[in-house]
Amino acid sequence: MVSDIVNVTGENQMKFTVDQETCIGCGACEETCPEVFVVDDTSTVKLDDVPADLEASALEAEEGCPVDAISHT
Ligand code: SF4
Repeated sequence: MVSDIVNVTGENQMKFTVDQETCIGCGACEETCPEVFVVDDTSTVKLDDVPADLEASALEAEEGCPVDAISHT
């Protein structure tokens, strides 16, 4: 029997993605949420599963992206 994969807290954790083709490397997401996003030439997501206490600031970074390059599931 195959069981669903559940993380240690039993909650669904958010996953954020940056579209590398769209990102202009402005650095805004890293300023807003450096725990999740790091920007070099373009932005990279450092944490695969964003813990609950960082969701709000990661969402704020997503909303603040000037080219809508960030999305989440
Ligand atoms: S805010 Fe958007 S455009 Fe700017 S570095 Fe982050 S993902 Fe790229």
